[in-house]
This record gives sequence, C-alpha cells and structure tokens, in this order.
Amino acid sequence: AKERGGNTFCLYSLTEEAGAVRSMKLENGLRTSIENEQLHLVYQPIIHLQTKRVVGLEALLRWEHAELGSISPAEFIPVAEKNGMIIPIGKWVLETACRQLKEWHSELPDLCIAVNVSTRQIYEENFADTVKKTLDDSGVAASKLTLEITESLMQNHNFSNRIFKRFKEIGVNLSIDDFGTGYSSLSVLSSLQIDRLKIDQSFIQQMLEHEKTGSIVKTIIDMGNNLDLELIAEGIETQEQEEALRECGCQYGQGYHISKPFPPEEMFRFLSVRSK
Ligand code: C2E
Ligand code: CA
Ligand code: CA
Ligand code: CA
Repeated sequence: AKERGGNTFCLYSLTEEAGAVRSMKLENGLRTSIENEQLHLVYQPIIHLQTKRVVGLEALLRWEHAELGSISPAEFIPVAEKNGMIIPIGKWVLETACRQLKEWHSELPDLCIAVNVSTRQIYEENFADTVKKTLDDSGVAASKLTLEITESLMQNHNFSNRIFKRFKEIGVNLSIDDFGTGYSSLSVLSSLQIDRLKIDQSFIQQMLEHEKTGSIVKTIIDMGNNLDLELIAEGIETQEQEEALRECGCQYGQGYHISKPFPPEEMFRFLSVRSK
C-alpha cells in the first residue's frame, strides 16, 4: 500500500484498519455472546410441496452485537470456527432448538427440527454423546431431529462412516446441506446413512433462467428419488420455482416465497394458522 501515496493510501489503510478492528470485535465479542444473551434462533418452515403442510423447521442462528448490531451467521460462523467458539455456540444452538421443539410439541406433536452443524463440531471427540444427552435432557425423540452437515465432511470416508453410524444408532436424521456445491457430490450419495439432500439455493434460483441449471436440478431430483433420499429445495423465492419443483418430483421446499425465518413467537403463530 505504501507506493499508492496521497489520499488513496489514507483510504486504503483506514479501510484495512477498520476491517481489522471489526474482526477483533467479532472475535472477542463471540467469546461472551452466550453469557451476554446476544444469541437467538429464528426458524424457517420446510413444507411438503404437494400438500403444503409444514413438516419441519430449520433453526438459524442470529447474533445481536452490543455495538455492531445484528451480524450475519455467514460472517460470524467462520470466525467462531476459527477461534473454537463454534463448540459452545453449537451446543447452545442444539440445546435451545431442542428445548423450543419440546415446547411446541404440546400443540404440534409431529413437528421436526433441523439444526446446522459445523464440520468442526462433528470432529469433536464426544459430539455424538452431546447430541444424545441434549435429546435425553429435552425429552425430544431423536427421530424429530435432523443434523444438517456439509459435503466437505464426506471427504474423510473412514471418519464420516464411523460417526454417521453413531448418529444412526442414536436415531437422528442426516441431511446434506448445500448439495451440489461440494467436491464429492456423487460419492456422498452412496453413503447409506444419509436421509436427505438439500439442493443448494444457487441452483433453485437459476433453474428457470438457465436451461442447464434446470437440467441439473431435475437430475439431482431423479437421482435422489431413485436412491430413496428425501429432497428439499432451498431458497425458493417465486411461485414459478415452487411449481416447477413440484412437477419435477421434489418432495419438500423452503424459501422466502413460503416463509422467511421468524423468531419463536411469530413462528408459532404462523404454524397455528397453517395447521388449522
Ligand atoms: P444455510 O444453512 O444454507 O441456510 C440457508 C440460508 O438461506 C439462511 O441464511 C436463510 O435465512 C437463507 N434463506 C432462506 N430462504 C431463502 C430465500 O428464499 N432466498 C435467499 N436469498 N435466502 C434464503 P442465514 O440465516 O443468513 O444463514 C447463513 C448460513 O449460516 C447458513 O446457510 C448456515 O450455513 C450458517 N448457519 C446459520 N445458523 C447456523 C448454526 O446454528 N450453526 C452453524 N454451524 N451454521 C449456521
Ligand atoms: Ca442449513
Ligand atoms: Ca443450505
Ligand atoms: Ca430414507
């Protein structure tokens, strides 16, 4: 930056400094985010596309920083993965989601929940035990919980097979998130332990604009159906996308066109109206 000189230099280094200050605030802020009660979950419905019934909710993490305001998980999850805070935060997410689901079960006993899990969490020695204990403590049946994981985990076959076996013993469902964006898309499908694929939203949003993307979506759906996997299309933003997916044989869908993610009270109202 030195040779830039003049105003350019000033601007450049100021921006850089601001960036470094922000990273440090995020990094430090995360360490106290749980005890300062700055984390909360919002919930987005997943519907059965034929009947439009809500079959489950995905829990999505939100962080309200005292000074910086609300921060996107896309920004802070990578920081938490780096500084290790993803472990206690991930545990908090799992516990909070299960506790919330238990509460909803008194009115909506069939409701399921999906929780995002970082690869870093799964690599923790006792992660499966944490899942089991959280289910036992909350009184939620394992069959009502889905763990959403990414394809990157599947690159280590020996490890993933072992840990997935444990998850199957416990009885939780496994879903591959952002399917189609990773390296190992096809080999993932041969794992017996996977229950669901979530087709990445970038495909869904382009499926009607780009013919080739549309073909990819159809191919994933056909493949999933042939392999007896449940398919969830994420990021549905229009009625046309929803209809096209239904016609292609995709069972489940999620996206702003159906509902944005909402805090628990609003979500409960949404669910009560929908289930009447
Ligand atoms: P994801 O798991 O792929 O979650 C879907 C993201 O797409 C969410 O963003 C959701 O709000 C957004 N979304 C839903 N429907 C639509 C739509 O129709 N259009 C568009 N454009 N977006 C839609 P969000 O909540 O900002 O989360 C971003 C990512 O952060 C998630 O992507 C997930 O990878 C990660 N994340 C969120 N919560 C957690 C968590 O508790 N633990 C971990 N490890 N990661 C999390
Ligand atoms: Ca997800
Ligand atoms: Ca996703
Ligand atoms: Ca199955």
